[in-house]
Amino acid sequence: MQKFTQQELLDIYNQPLLELVFQAATVHREHHNPREVQMSSLLSIKTGGCSEDCGYCPQAARYHTDVEAHKLMSVESVLEQAKNAKANGSSRLCMGAAWREVRDNKDFDNVIEMVQGVNDLDMEVCCTLGMMNEDQAKRLKNAGLFAYNHNLDTSADYYDDVISTREYEDRLDTIENARKAGISVCSGGIIGMGEAIEDRIGLLMSYMKMDVPPESIPINALVAVEGTPMEDQKPIEQWEMIRMVATTRIAFPKSVVRLSAGRTKMNLEGQALCFMAGASSIFAGDKLLTTPNPEFNEDKEMFEILGLIPKAPFAEGEQPETKPDAINEEKKRKEAIREAELAEAKKNIPVDFQPRKVTSVD
Ligand code: SF4
Repeated sequence: MQKFTQQELLDIYNQPLLELVFQAATVHREHHNPREVQMSSLLSIKTGGCSEDCGYCPQAARYHTDVEAHKLMSVESVLEQAKNAKANGSSRLCMGAAWREVRDNKDFDNVIEMVQGVNDLDMEVCCTLGMMNEDQAKRLKNAGLFAYNHNLDTSADYYDDVISTREYEDRLDTIENARKAGISVCSGGIIGMGEAIEDRIGLLMSYMKMDVPPESIPINALVAVEGTPMEDQKPIEQWEMIRMVATTRIAFPKSVVRLSAGRTKMNLEGQALCFMAGASSIFAGDKLLTTPNPEFNEDKEMFEILGLIPKAPFAEGEQPETKPDAINEEKKRKEAIREAELAEAKKNIPVDFQPRKVTSVD
């Protein structure tokens, strides 16, 4: 992969728009089928109440937004939603939990079951659960996790203007832990948070410095939500989104570039230029975690007009094998032993001590 400098990427970003789109489209065609666009679904499996202070996020508990906090969804409802997303053409499901970090508790055991269940549906499973350590990454990998999303959001220089409750380095560590476990990495950023163009390029430079860049790079436009510190940010022009997508495509020819949040503010022509410039995935479904997104039907119509076809799952890598989860299996084994012991103990209770059925009350 060609290594670009910050200045080279800035020059690429700032060239006349149509030159940029043409250059990106040429790179895109060398590495991807330009008609194929992956439809992914994003499901908020645990919403709101997050202890972090990401300035763009309505799920942070400290901001007063309309987002209602919900506990972790049940495994059954998640699998139901996954089947629904698959029936609507999605080949990837990204499950998001508003956690600072993964904890080794019952909720994580349930997430492991969700990953197993979705992988068994032959969909690519991606999770975004906050920071995680190496052991947690291995458990997710063994459950059948295909990708882990952990965005850097912006450049290292602008990061402190956006988040104060964790460091840029923490994010890089989590990405590294996913990588070590053999999980495909999804990591990108948000534009329109008041950053300079240099920061947008700075984000790309963080990935350029990695030995292996992310296989998937989502590019989001800020959705300014009332009640967050960024509520007054002016929406970016769609040309800026096209420039960012195109520059990302040129910088990382093999990665999947995901046109993510902010599509509701773009018209069909703007999105078409993004596909031309190398976007090879969108998020489908009317919600992106908690912010609005075009409906499935609108996207189907767009695919028809533009002659796009949904990309099959695992086009960019092998489907992971779902292995039995040692921790969940051990818990189930202990529960079964305990139930058997209780049943045995009940049998041995003398008849006089057996609970009697009350047939009448005197
Ligand atoms: S972006 Fe994630 S970590 Fe940050 S506040 Fe929102 S839910 Fe929490």
